[in-house]
Amino acid sequence: TQFDLKDLIIEVIDQLEHKASKRDVEIIFDFEEGKNYITSADRQKIYRVCQNLIFNAVKYNNNKGQVKVSLKTGKNNIQVDIKDDGQGIPPEDLKRIFERFYRVEKSRNKKEGGTGLGLAIVKHILEGHKSKISVSSTVGKGSIFSFSLPLVKNESQDQKAKVSQPV
Ligand code: ATP
Ligand code: MG
Repeated sequence: TQFDLKDLIIEVIDQLEHKASKRDVEIIFDFEEGKNYITSADRQKIYRVCQNLIFNAVKYNNNKGQVKVSLKTGKNNIQVDIKDDGQGIPPEDLKRIFERFYRVEKSRNKKEGGTGLGLAIVKHILEGHKSKISVSSTVGKGSIFSFSLPLVKNESQDQKAKVSQPV
């Protein structure tokens, strides 16, 4: 089904706002007003993907940290970046965090709950959409998780394109 990815992310952020403010973490959403962010995907599943990634970015952040979610459109896709300035992930763990039940030692010792399934589900869902999750992380600085979904060009834009085509 087709849906607006920007609206979905606004819903996810609204839902996580309470947890974020408890930790004094600020969530920023960066997108262009009036731009088309319609994608074609399973909305419920993509909701879970965004929820898992944004919640991780809040959960593994520092107090008073910041999470920045941004949307960038390319010719045929929309890229979602979820950036935090938290603890980061050591290189030796980075290759394993998408495995089921894998948790970095530090977070395992934390009171912070979690089963280590979130990212395995994220990876599985995105693979089902012919997409994939990528991550880059620096210990002590933070992490960025990214994925892309197809961009569905809206009719009015297509119409404009047709009109402006030289005869
Ligand atoms: P669950 O999501 O099932 O509640 P979880 O958050 O521990 O539990 P995942 O979301 O799969 O599980 O993440 C696996 C591990 O990767 C986490 O335990 C944590 O150690 C690490 N991790 C994930 N996201 C981040 C992040 N943004 N910053 C630092 N570490 C992270
Ligand atoms: Mg998680």
